[in-house]
Amino acid sequence: MRVFNFSAGPAVLPEEVLREAAEDMLDWHGSGMSVMEMSHRGKEFGHILQHVFADLRELLAVPDNYKILLMQGGAIGENAIVPLNLLGKNNKVDFVETGSWSVKTIKETQRYGDVNVAASSLDREAKQGKYTYIPDRSTWKLRSDAAYLHLCGNETIDGVEYFDWPETGKVPLVVDMSSHILSRPLDISKFGLIYAGAQKNIGPAGLTIVIVRDDLLDQAHALCPSAFNYRIVADNDSMYNTPPTYGIYIAGLVFQWIRRQGGLAAIEANNIAKATALYDALDRSEFYVTHVRKECRSRMNVPFFLRDESLTDAFLLESRERGLVQLKGHKSVGGFRASIYNAMTLEGVEALVEFLHAFEKRYG
Ligand SMILES: *Cc1c(COP(=O)(O)O)cnc(C)c1O
Repeated sequence: MRVFNFSAGPAVLPEEVLREAAEDMLDWHGSGMSVMEMSHRGKEFGHILQHVFADLRELLAVPDNYKILLMQGGAIGENAIVPLNLLGKNNKVDFVETGSWSVKTIKETQRYGDVNVAASSLDREAKQGKYTYIPDRSTWKLRSDAAYLHLCGNETIDGVEYFDWPETGKVPLVVDMSSHILSRPLDISKFGLIYAGAQKNIGPAGLTIVIVRDDLLDQAHALCPSAFNYRIVADNDSMYNTPPTYGIYIAGLVFQWIRRQGGLAAIEANNIAKATALYDALDRSEFYVTHVRKECRSRMNVPFFLRDESLTDAFLLESRERGLVQLKGHKSVGGFRASIYNAMTLEGVEALVEFLHAFEKRYG
């Protein structure tokens, strides 16, 4: 029996996609082989790859002057790969610190360039909820000559999400979208570059998606590894090195699944319904607490706590017994976290809401 899996990543995938992959496992479309066994340069995989590029470009309405790159190394890899490609001679990067992932990216970027934290929402005193908002834009101390401004679009650990994007003029905007890419429509033209590890909202771990504007392709540092040089990856259609073929294939099935759902507008409507159901249940109760301000509450990752934290273990045990798994909060923040990515069904969220009520009734 399948559980309701609230893991932050690697995360739940659509059951339909897993069934399709199972059906294709031994013999993909009459080829007599599994996708894992195909040459990445053969015509079968070529067919898969072409559809992956086309479907992703269509879903996100990626303009012609942007390249889609299928890479490896994950978002943490990109934290180094981005500066190696985009810093140029300028060497200056601005950041806004909104949670644990932006902190991690800041630390990595400091190894390569001159980093300015233009604003931070860190509340050092807070016992719970050290990051609960996005600093007001009027307070950001941006440098007009920065090589780029880097943000984390959705803080997977802290549950803080951007719903609109700053105008940055000539300074390219770079965003880590690992945990909310494809959760809603996006105006790609606002960004210089976005990246995302696949294992939250796209597919299995091992694939990283980068979407980058053409004019940013030619500034790589001389020591940037060729396999991570955006120009080289782009000119080779993401096949300079062997790409993570099976992950790309599953991502392709997920893109087709999103299309069958009605595209990103329909996906967004469903994500709003799920997030609303869960936050409403938490807000109505005195028994549970959430800290993130309403206007930037993540629709993908919902951290919450019990007022009486001594009940935390009982909550995890009893939820698990009901088939609601991976609800434990990140070790750095404690409490609980429900990740409700695209593939989490409304039914799964409703089961969680029902459990929240039942647990409160018993112990509240
Ligand atoms: C999960 C995650 C990462 C880390 O991804 P890796 O694949 O482990 O490199 C980075 N940033 C965000 C926002 C994430 O959610």
